[in-house]
Amino acid sequence: MSVLPFKEMTAASIAARIAAGDMSPIEAVEASHAQAKEAGAGADQLNAILWSDESLARRDATKLAESMAVAGRGGLLAGVPVAIKDNIATLGLPTTCASRILAGYVSPFEATAVTRLRHEGAIVVAKTNMDEFAMGSSTENSAHGPTRNPHDIRLVPGGSSGGSAAAVAAGIVPIALGSETGGSVRQPAAFCGIVGVKPSYGRVSRYGLVAFASSLDQIGPLARNVDDAALAMEVISGVDPKDSTSADNEVQPYRDQFISPATAAPLAGMTIGVPAEYFPESLDTGIRRRCERSIEAMRSLGATVKDVSLRHTSLAVPVYYILAPAEASSNLARFDGVRYGLRASGGDGLRGMYGATRSQGFGPEVTRRVLLGTYVLSAGYYDAYYRKAQAVRALIAGDFISVFAKGVDALFTPTTPTTAFAIGAVTDPYEMYLSDIFTVPANLAGVPAISLPIGRERGLPVGGQIIANRFAEATMFRVAYALEAALGGEAHQ
Ligand code: GLN
Repeated sequence: MSVLPFKEMTAASIAARIAAGDMSPIEAVEASHAQAKEAGAGADQLNAILWSDESLARRDATKLAESMAVAGRGGLLAGVPVAIKDNIATLGLPTTCASRILAGYVSPFEATAVTRLRHEGAIVVAKTNMDEFAMGSSTENSAHGPTRNPHDIRLVPGGSSGGSAAAVAAGIVPIALGSETGGSVRQPAAFCGIVGVKPSYGRVSRYGLVAFASSLDQIGPLARNVDDAALAMEVISGVDPKDSTSADNEVQPYRDQFISPATAAPLAGMTIGVPAEYFPESLDTGIRRRCERSIEAMRSLGATVKDVSLRHTSLAVPVYYILAPAEASSNLARFDGVRYGLRASGGDGLRGMYGATRSQGFGPEVTRRVLLGTYVLSAGYYDAYYRKAQAVRALIAGDFISVFAKGVDALFTPTTPTTAFAIGAVTDPYEMYLSDIFTVPANLAGVPAISLPIGRERGLPVGGQIIANRFAEATMFRVAYALEAALGGEAHQ
């Protein structure tokens, strides 16, 4: 039997090979490091990885091999190398949010999502590059320079989880964790031709995720296929006593949602809604063509396709860019040079130290968000901006509630309005914010969404998005599995 090269192996197949004794955890870790070198993951090329420690990963792999020898079995991810976005706390490797203000910070605790991956045998091999504090859509806002897209290194990988997306797309790891506040997993997944999941708000513990906008933030997995994304979601989902916003309803078996189109019509009886607002006149014709092809495919899998409307969609970006900076300005107040990271001297006394630390520690986009957030929360403007944005957020959530109440099982949309753009091409912050136009509504509504590759245009990956009702991740995965199988190789051509 011929064996795929490591860079093409899924997490499920690596775990199966390791469980069968055909590969050791050490070999998997070594293969990941070799692929990182091969793909040029370092600062001079892809610049996807900020921190890694080969000897630590080998130690973890050796420990795992020993415990597997005793127990006779490993976990669901036994020996699978994984990468973690730099805003998710890990033991032994720095957690800096790609910011100067957290330079050198190593967390004394670990994020629950990481603990859960490790509990199933996964081995953390790297922390990945990102937009500073997850603010951005291109990974150009990193204090360590931009990550490049493995499909074309002149292009951005998307963001803010661009390092995680590039590491998965380049075959360095089969699974990586990213974080979502307004699209930071799905948008880079779309730009890099892989799968990315934004879970329902509360589905995955936020413990150990450095807070950006707490009412929106969720950790989500990136993977090369739907099955690995479902596997990662099964592992990281569930209630956590350390996060009071985590939900305690049961985690459904996501991997059971695969129904082979060869033997059945996997979407029979399901209704897929296509919201008009996500297909504006101005939509890139290549992206529209790919989406139409996917809609046709879902129809032939037995789904009923229905035109629907989510009326308040155009308000989502303005609402998001009031609420997210407001929450960020409060969350980021803790970075003041007193307890962790950078401490700059300069000004007079304590206030001077705060000022010097924050102005030297934060990059321009983070500074812009803190200023914007402070402004919309200020006494004179609170009602005009923050309170109004909260009210409009409820309307946006209401759009989803009513469409799902009317018998629609899932929605299908493009993930992004464009394919990956050139590094340095988008300099106007507002233009950058508009690249979140199709991803932000799901965050505001708290519903789950997945991006998967649905083909290429001008050689570049196009992502299709499936959005489901709150905690209906199983439905979302059922549609994603079916569409992925129906498109087959076409998803990457
Ligand atoms: N691009 C959006 C922003 O800049 C979303 C980021 C995210 O999801 N973390 O805020």
